Amino acid sequence: MLKARNEKHQKMHAAIFYGPNNITNEEIYCCSRYHYQNQKDIWKEGVILRVKACAVCGYDVRVYRDGHRKVTPPIILGHEICGETDKTITIGNGTRIKGGSRVAILSIVPCLNCRYCYNKQYNLCINLKEIGSSINGGFAEFVKVPEKTIKIGGLVPVPDNLSDEEAALLEPLSCCLNGFSRIGQIPKQSTALVIGDGPIGLLHLQLFKKLYNTKTIIVGKILQRIQKAKSMGADATMVLAHEDDDHNEQILDNVLECTGGIGADIVIIATSNPKALEMSTRVAARNSKINIFAGMSNTASFSLDPNLIHYNQISITGSFGATPTTLQQAARIVSDKQIDLSKIITHRYSLDNIQKAILATEKYYGLRSVINRFS
Ligand SMILES: [Zn+2]
Ligand SMILES: [Zn+2]
Repeated sequence: MLKARNEKHQKMHAAIFYGPNNITNEEIYCCSRYHYQNQKDIWKEGVILRVKACAVCGYDVRVYRDGHRKVTPPIILGHEICGETDKTITIGNGTRIKGGSRVAILSIVPCLNCRYCYNKQYNLCINLKEIGSSINGGFAEFVKVPEKTIKIGGLVPVPDNLSDEEAALLEPLSCCLNGFSRIGQIPKQSTALVIGDGPIGLLHLQLFKKLYNTKTIIVGKILQRIQKAKSMGADATMVLAHEDDDHNEQILDNVLECTGGIGADIVIIATSNPKALEMSTRVAARNSKINIFAGMSNTASFSLDPNLIHYNQISITGSFGATPTTLQQAARIVSDKQIDLSKIITHRYSLDNIQKAILATEKYYGLRSVINRFS
């Protein structure tokens, strides 16, 4: 059995991303060149986690297929992590977490020395590094959490009533909560439209229903996911067709009809297809808010009618990542059983099968795939 201490001389299993379509499972020294590349400064301090579970995000799939400007291979991906700390740590707000405890983390490593960091907007840091993106992540037996992440409180103890897999999903849930913070007040009688039926879309659905009791419409493409949305309390669901524009126009009419012709007061774009933005402005109510939650593919294009934004006073906002506050909030509402993350986890894999997990995510099998066995 590997131990996390004396990491320099220890080996661990890791899935190394070498470039598009190239991930290889290897046994590497914890302190190998993979750790040192571009990350010498952050390796020195912080805490090592033995990874208990790491979920596969749509972002991991996009990086695996196309690479990403933030990602310099070779590197270990994976940023939705539940791990066990090797030592007692004190996080930003003074909370002590004993060695051997489970924690969930934010993937952000801020510089603490830019105007956004001074304003505690760490996810917007100009020199931001990200675990599982620009520094090594959780598709490995161990992951290093840099001191700066601990310092800002980007790490929470996992409530006892959560499984390792559920705890890994606290990170995406905290990102959704960050999106809600961009939307602001949600008046009673509002209608929300979530475009996207993946794990993020369905997390938004749960948040709208359980925290705000908001009438929520889900628009997606995958029948099984739409079924799941219904079982989670979606008030209306609609299925887009891949190449059928007439059908998709009809969907827009249906959304309007569903809202008494007024349109949706809040629209969440939880799909990486930028056409969703164009669609959303056509079904957004006056004074509505649209949040672009998902990252988009660089090559996709779309058009937007500025008069719709102007005359209808539509606000388009974006949200990226999460904050220590939303991570803590996520842990609290899941522990209270307001939100059920277990419904989002449908596939479990060992690290040896990382490619299968990525493929399952890409092919929209189920919802979240989680790596939960590492050696
Ligand atoms: Zn993610
Ligand atoms: Zn900064």
